[in-house]
Parts: sequence; structure tokens; C-alpha cells
Amino acid sequence: MKYRRIIVWFRNDLRIHDNVTLSMACEKAEEVIPVYCFDPRHFGEIDLGMEKMGNLRAKFLKETVSELRQNLQKLGADLVVLQGFPEKEIPNLAVSLQAEAIFFSEEVTDEEKQVDDALESTAWKKGIKTRSFWQHTLFHIDDLPFPIGQTPEVFTQFRKECEKFCKVRLHASTPNAINFPKIEIEKGQIPALSEFGLEEPEDTGRGVLMFKGGEQEGLRRLQTYFWNLDCLKDYKNTRNGLLGANYSSKFSPWLALGCLSPRQIYWEVKRYEKERVKNDSTYWLVFELIWRDYFRFIAKKHGNKIFQLKGIKPFADRWRRDESLFWKWANGHTGIPFVDANMRELNGTGFMSNRGRQNVASFLVNDLGIDWRWGAAYFESKLIDYDVCSNWCNWMYVAGVGNDPRENRYFNILKQGSNYDKKGDYVRHWIPELGKVPGFDIHRPFELNASELKRYGVSLGGNYPHPIVSMKVFT
Ligand SMILES: Cc1cc2nc3c(=O)[nH]c(=O)nc-3n(C[C@H](O)[C@H](O)[C@H](O)COP(=O)(O)OP(=O)(O)OC[C@H]3O[C@@H](n4cnc5c(N)ncnc54)[C@H](O)[C@@H]3O)c2cc1C
Repeated sequence: MKYRRIIVWFRNDLRIHDNVTLSMACEKAEEVIPVYCFDPRHFGEIDLGMEKMGNLRAKFLKETVSELRQNLQKLGADLVVLQGFPEKEIPNLAVSLQAEAIFFSEEVTDEEKQVDDALESTAWKKGIKTRSFWQHTLFHIDDLPFPIGQTPEVFTQFRKECEKFCKVRLHASTPNAINFPKIEIEKGQIPALSEFGLEEPEDTGRGVLMFKGGEQEGLRRLQTYFWNLDCLKDYKNTRNGLLGANYSSKFSPWLALGCLSPRQIYWEVKRYEKERVKNDSTYWLVFELIWRDYFRFIAKKHGNKIFQLKGIKPFADRWRRDESLFWKWANGHTGIPFVDANMRELNGTGFMSNRGRQNVASFLVNDLGIDWRWGAAYFESKLIDYDVCSNWCNWMYVAGVGNDPRENRYFNILKQGSNYDKKGDYVRHWIPELGKVPGFDIHRPFELNASELKRYGVSLGGNYPHPIVSMKVFT
């Protein structure tokens, strides 16, 4: 059946390439109306006065929506930008523009699903059909070799079964043109950050990359990392780095908003393996994308448990809720330089390496014993690559209430610093007040004597805090 007019509601699938929802709408309808809706529930203060979406993430989102509009215009269409609750605004728009159906991409977590359900119910009452499509993952949900309720709890088992029994589908075709209705349609403005009570972020000039939102930016990064700089062949050896643009792919912000599709990356890896080299590193990037899939399927399997204190475990441990300690962690004022450097990077840029994330998360839950959900909420606010499933499931994992088969995984911060920042360059980059402390000593200013501290211009409790916990010295 061919529809006369379909609305495509863009969510975290803000791209033209490999977008099943968009390509199906183009196939099924004479005319397509792409829509994005800024939902006020994604902004504003949540617990402890944190912003649900901080200014760095909001800026990245705005840039992405703006580029999507330009890309749609190049295809002869446009993007209608709304503000309000999608479950209300989009069916209303469908009625006023006489659209017969709304197509959108399926999400898996509660807040998003509630919106889907409400939108479907309102639309159907108004005689408008809805259809949702599975996107986001490398392996399609329908191709999994197990029902979602039996998704293996252990990653290795999940990965092995998927690798053995699933094939990554080819990408969806990119439309050459989109037939946008030739009627009067209010296109709407992309709101300024100030409309959400947010200030324009300042550039620290220290970030690993100038992250800019948008599909072309994401594709450009893919081209640079794989083809121009040929970094993929070394990925497995460099991926635990902390400084610089190319130790890891930095695809995550574009993946989170769907500017890049994981299948697009997968098929580029396959092309690279044919045209350049196939090795452990090329495999490892796909391996990491499988982690991303795994957390999405685990989130779908466990529903709201991923947001609960006990996670997917039967009992909750005791957790502290000490706001003063929490804010020292969040602001990068713990007196433990490796933790502070990472948190300052997050606060200043909206990004942090995977190594950094594991360390600061472990520090919050293991060394400070603070409710892991505060940490997860803080990351939600700050990360430009925030992805509900990757974030909350990784936090559950580190907090020991998720899918980690190893009990009590603990990161000794000093040992981690000595493994991954031996000369202290990363800490020096983010904590200039410790800049004169030589070599690895920068990781432990609390062990320096008074004359050393004086020589290096460090005053503990003055220009750099005393440690809030005593760090076990490793051997
Ligand atoms: C506490 C904590 C919170 C996290 N929150 C998020 C989040 O909100 N959003 C997010 O995208 N990632 C999150 N991660 C996972 C990981 O840290 C980032 O995906 C990665 O650092 C992004 O950098 P990259 O793109 O250069 O990664 P690369 O090393 O180049 O990996 C390629 C891609 O694989 C995926 N990937 C890699 N590691 C993981 C992982 N552990 N879990 C899920 N996917 C992974 C990402 O999509 C990434 O872009 C979190 C990790 C921890 C420990």
C-alpha cells in the first residue's frame, strides 16, 4: 500500500545514510515530511541540581539537527522543527498536514518507550497509522539467535553467539531525492541554548578533538580515522590512550545521535580489510561495536532495572549519598590527580576516554562508596556521546550490579596512572597547577615533602586539594 504523505519523526537517528525509517518512508509514500521535536523533558534540572542535558551535549545536538536540515534540503525536502511533547505535537502536525502515518525508530528504555506508546495511542485515535523500525545496532534484533529475554548475561557468550549465527545486514539505501509536499508548512526554528536555560560553552582549547555535531562531520571523522590517517590498523594497541585525537576512533558522539550508523562503520571496516589490512585491530573495532549492541539488548531485556540501585542483582548493597564528596568528584577536586584530570576533561569538553571513564567510575563507587546512579546521572548530563544504554549499563558494570562476571572489579588509580600515564603528561595537560611536578610524581603530590612541594609551586589545600581519601600505594 502506498501512502500519500508520511511523517518521519527523527530521534537518535539523525542521518540520511543507512536510515531504514527514512528509506522505508520514501518507498511507501508519495510525500515525506521529516520532523524533529525538541522535548522540554530532555532539559532542565534533575537531582542534585544537575542539568539533564548540559550545554556541551545540547550544542552538539543543535549542530546535528541543523546539519540534518541542510542535508534534507539538498535532497529537496526540509526539516520541520517542533518544540514540545512529541506524543502531542507530532500527531497534531500529522492531522494538520493530512499525513496518514508516522514512521520512527524504536528505542528501548522507559522514558523513550513511554513517549512511543503515548504517541502511538494518540495517533491511532486520530486515524493516523504508526510504524517503528529497529535501528541503532550492528546486529538487527530480528537476526539474534535468541529471544531478547534470553540475551546472554555474559558478554563473551553474547558476542560468540552473534558472531556465529548473525550476519550484519547491508545498509539501507540513501534516498537520491525526497518528495516534500508543496504546501505551506511552518518549518520552525532550531532553538538557542538560552531557551533551555543553558549558556554557550567555552572552548578550553585542550580537548582531544573539535567535536562538531552532524552527519557529514561523523562521516568525515570516519574517513580521516580509517583512510586518511590509517589509524584503524593500530587501534587495538592505541585504544587505551588518553591524549590526542587518534588513540581511539572518537565515533561515539556521532553514533549516539545516529549521525553515524554502526553498519556503515562495519562495512567500512570490511572494505579497509580488503583494501589495506586485516588484523587484530580491525577486528577489535567491531568487537567494541558489539559491546555497544550488547548493552542495548541488555537494557531491552532488563527494562528499568538498569536505573535501579541494585541493578540486575537480587540485593542492593549499602551506598553513601554524601553530596559534598560527590561534588568534589564531579568538579575534579578530589586531590587524586588522575581522577581530577579526567573529570576536568569531561567538564571542559564533554568527552573522556574509556580508560578515564572506568577509573573515575570505579573511584566514585569503590573508593568513595557513593551511589553509582549519581555518577551515571552526572555522565548523562555531561557526555556529548551520552547513550542511555551504554552509559547506564557501563555504570552498572563498574558498580558491580551489572553483567560483570568478575566480582569486585577495582581500579587502583595510581597503578592505572602508572600503566597509562607513566610520565604524567595527561595529568599535566589538565591540571596546570601541578605542571612543574616531574614525571610520575605528578600522580601523587600528597607524597611529596614540603620542600619539593614548594619547588614545584604546589600548595596542598591551596592551589590543589588534599586527597579526599588515602590512596593505597601499589607495589
Ligand atoms: C562509566 C562508563 C560510561 C560510559 N558511557 C557511555 C555513553 O554514554 N555513551 C557511549 O557511547 N559510550 C559510553 N561508554 C563506553 C566508552 O567509554 C565509549 O564508547 C568510548 O570511550 C568512546 O570513545 P571512542 O568512540 O573513541 O571509542 P572506540 O574505542 O573507538 O570504540 C568504538 C566504538 O565502540 C563503542 N564502544 C567502545 N567501548 C564501549 C563500551 N564499553 N560500551 C559501549 N560501547 C562501547 C562506542 O560506540 C565507540 O564509539 C561508557 C563507559 C564507561 C566505563
